[in-house]
Parts: sequence; structure tokens; C-alpha cells
Amino acid sequence: MLSKLEALRPKKRLFLGLLLAAEFFVALTLYAAWRISYLGLEKIFEYLPAIVGAFLIFISTFSFGAVCNMVLAIKGLPTLKLFHRYSFAIIKFLFPVAVRIGKIFGIKRRQIEGSFIAVSNLIFMKSNIKVPAQKLLVLSPHCLQLSTCPHKITRDPNNCKRCGGCNIGDLMKLSEELGFTFFVATGGTLARQVVKKTRPQAVLAIACERDLMSGIQDVYPLPAVGVLNIRPNGPCNNTRVDMEEVRRVLKGIIKDDNK
Ligand code: SF4
Repeated sequence: MLSKLEALRPKKRLFLGLLLAAEFFVALTLYAAWRISYLGLEKIFEYLPAIVGAFLIFISTFSFGAVCNMVLAIKGLPTLKLFHRYSFAIIKFLFPVAVRIGKIFGIKRRQIEGSFIAVSNLIFMKSNIKVPAQKLLVLSPHCLQLSTCPHKITRDPNNCKRCGGCNIGDLMKLSEELGFTFFVATGGTLARQVVKKTRPQAVLAIACERDLMSGIQDVYPLPAVGVLNIRPNGPCNNTRVDMEEVRRVLKGIIKDDNK
């Protein structure tokens, strides 16, 4: 497991580096806006430039602190709980800027999203989250189902006949073996509805980079870990998942009743 995490290190650096660059860029833009509006603000109220300036310094310092907190979490050092709550809100705000900065350096959005998932998964694992199997929800995308399969599994995955044609059957078998709730979601809205209905304590989501990126942020503050799907036929068509990886991640999350 550790060797795999080690292998992911450059990816994590990419996301955090771009996030810090975005942070710096936004802080600089805010400073420029403050300087330009200084005289106008002063005309409204003598102390307004100082009040606005102090507020901008506060939010810039706070979001910088949140990014640094993620770096500490990845390094396995103690972190401040205060920042955890706001981390994903800050990522959501800074991510479009990070993508634009990445574009200048020829870095693709998918690479940045993949790096985000690596960071998010590592923070999840370092948090040592353990939940009973019954309180764990595993979500998979519809494209994991064999496109020629006639069985409708999106409302009820139990309709799967476990014929071995795709990984849906493997996931059904695993859910019966381990006891977690398994659901196939056709999109973010349905995924959110399932989360609301089943009230899990943690989520394992299988999806592509883009859907995992938004899904992990959408279910926050619920802890979520992502496993990337494999796309030998291109996106959204007869995708696969590494069942060994799913099993390994599940082993790390599910609480052993005997302990
Ligand atoms: S494993 Fe289930 S979902 Fe996949 S092709 Fe077979 S019956 Fe269909």
C-alpha cells in the first residue's frame, strides 16, 4: 500500500503546487483591487480601506492556512481541525484558477483532477476513518455496466444476474460478502439522493477524475474516498474497475467488528 502511495507523490505535489500558485494569484488580484478602490473607499468612510484591507488579509491568510494544512496532512504531521471544514470550499473556489494556471504550463485538467483525488484519498487514509460495513456506501457509475446487458440496475442493483460480463456483478458479490450498501448512480443528483436516503458514515466512489472531483466535494463533510475507473473503450463506455484496489480500500475503511 505504502509503495503505491509513494508512487503517487508527484501527482499530489502537482495539485498542491497549483493550488498554492492559485492562492498567490488570487491574493495578488485582491491586493490590486484594494489599491485601485482605496480612494473611493476612503470617500465613503475614513476607516473603510483599513477594514476592507484587514478582511482581505484575513481571508487570504485563512485560505493559505487551509492549503498548508493539507500539506501537513499529507506529510503525516498534526493538522488544525479548524481548517478541515473549509478545505473543500477553498478548493472549489481556487480550482478553476489552478486549472487556468496549469493550462499555461501545458498541464491537462484531468491530470490536476487526478492529483486532487490522490491528495483527497491520502487525507482520508491518514484520518484513519473506520466505519461499520452497514454504514458504508459504495457508488459506481452506470458506464461500469456492460452496454449490451438488458438488466436495469440503476434503481436496483439486485437486478444484476452476476453473469461475469462486467464489474457490477463483482461489486454485488462483494457487497453481499462484506455487508456494505452498493448503488449504481447515473449522475451527481442521483448520487446525492442515495446519500441522503442511506445516510452512510463514509462513501467509496468509483468514477472518472471529473466525477470523483465533484462527487467528493459534493458529499463533504461526509468522508469520501475515490477509486478511478479504467476506460479501455474510451470514456463512459464499458468501463472497468480494479477489484483488487476496491477490496484493498474497503479493507482499510470497514471496521472489524471483532476489534
Ligand atoms: S454482471 Fe450484471 S450488470 Fe454486468 S453484464 Fe452481467 S448481469 Fe449485466
